[in-house]
Amino acid sequence: MRLKVEKQILSANDAVAMQNRARLDATQVLAINVMASPGAGKTSLILATADRLPHGIRMAVIEGDLASRIDADLIATRGIPVTQINTGGTCHLDAPMIRAALDQLPLENVHLLFIENVGNLVCPAEFELGAHLAIVVASTPEGHDKPYKYPGMFARADAVILNKADLLDVLGFDMAYFERGLRMVNPAAPIFALSCRTGQGVEDWLAWLLRRLNHDEDSTAASA
Ligand code: MG
Ligand code: ZN
Repeated sequence: MRLKVEKQILSANDAVAMQNRARLDATQVLAINVMASPGAGKTSLILATADRLPHGIRMAVIEGDLASRIDADLIATRGIPVTQINTGGTCHLDAPMIRAALDQLPLENVHLLFIENVGNLVCPAEFELGAHLAIVVASTPEGHDKPYKYPGMFARADAVILNKADLLDVLGFDMAYFERGLRMVNPAAPIFALSCRTGQGVEDWLAWLLRRLNHDEDSTAASA
């Protein structure tokens, strides 16, 4: 019997994503691709996380936006290394954009890299960047039906943040319905209901993130 061997052809984007990952691994940086619709609170989550990082853990940020430096400037005021990508109309980040952004950052001196994707729940999910983790930031004002409407995005999340959780009751947000929708496409990702504004729930997300960071360092040490 003759087996047909199909050679796996990586897309040009995926090949660059693999190079990005190798570069991040070489400098022991854990990278997180942060995806969400506009206004869900990606930048707010990054800042709330930065405010609570244990002493000695340093982070950097890549900001992706269609236009403007508003978010990057806000992050820079905290003394966090940040580089802005303006996609000029492209509605997602891709791996070559990240490759160029990595050149601008002091990777040797940071442990965590947040990559804030363009606000869009569709195509950012389709472009590998080389990040280790992908998270989706949903928010209560968007409604509890988002996992049903954007299954591709929620399917690939390693964790789901539900921001603006201080408004759960006011908005009549149905948490059980939201979670059922998520579980239809993603059996394992934890949900962190939190509020970047009040700070409630942020510690649980941070604890999960730091466990991933430590795990990453352990496996790097074990393979060294
Ligand atoms: Mg933002
Ligand atoms: Zn796009």
